[in-house]
Amino acid sequence: MAQRPLITARDLEGVESPVIPRGAILTPLARDLLRKRGIEPEVCGRPAAASDPLVVGNWKSHKTLPEARAFAEELRAAARPGGVALVICPPHTALATLADALRGVAEVGSQDISAHGEGAHTGEVAARHLVDAGCRFAIVGHSERRHAGETDALVGRKLRRALAAGLRPILCVGETAEERRAGRAESVVSRQLEVLGGLEPARLEQVLVAYEPRWAIGSGQTPTPDEVESMLAHASAALARGADPAAAQRVPVLYGGSVKPSNAAELLGLPSCGGALVGGAALKVASFLGIARAAPGASG
Ligand code: PEP
Repeated sequence: MAQRPLITARDLEGVESPVIPRGAILTPLARDLLRKRGIEPEVCGRPAAASDPLVVGNWKSHKTLPEARAFAEELRAAARPGGVALVICPPHTALATLADALRGVAEVGSQDISAHGEGAHTGEVAARHLVDAGCRFAIVGHSERRHAGETDALVGRKLRRALAAGLRPILCVGETAEERRAGRAESVVSRQLEVLGGLEPARLEQVLVAYEPRWAIGSGQTPTPDEVESMLAHASAALARGADPAAAQRVPVLYGGSVKPSNAAELLGLPSCGGALVGGAALKVASFLGIARAAPGASG
């Protein structure tokens, strides 16, 4: 079932020119508020994603515009599997180009999002601009951002900015090697998930969680499938404890960290796995699609 972002009156408070993503549901109060202000909702963004397993590519700081276009052309021309949703998170400079070039093939997401709204925040990219560029998703709390000093509190503010703009946040959680050795992997992940506390069920349902053990990212190492399953199940259980259990059940928990075509079937086939967040192997169409084809239920 397609999931449609919900826009409430509270989301519109203090927002001068709201951007309402296509397919969004406006509460009656939100509609009234817009009408009173004489504002016609500006329709932009892309249709809501389906609840298929997701394979999300994080390009990090890779690819120029011509390289991004070449990837899009190759992906468009390739035999793509059905039953799996594809998302590409390129550098900000390629967002709008890719959103156009991949229409109908894959959705586009950002690798980060500003914790601020529009305003005097030099160098920040606000939710409104990401929606304007065609984004549907926004990664928050990626381990490389946490390594650069992002706290849970900041990640929580970014997540709420994304939700308020109708973007689906992909909340990255995961322990360091040291935390794992100290037997703290579960407690670290539980703590990182606390940023979801207090979200209304309709908001929570828009969130995706990506369990990415920090030591597995870009290292070629992965936990064993049993260890991954245990952490994914732990994350789902922690979510259900902290929120509306029915809404929490609808939050996909992806695995990320050195996923490649050769290990994708094993990881994506785990009972608690809702998809994959892929770095290095998402830079080439062949390996990205190799992973997508391994998703359970993928056809063709
Ligand atoms: C990532 O960047 O989120 C990631 C999982 O990278 P890699 O697949 O290269 O480990």
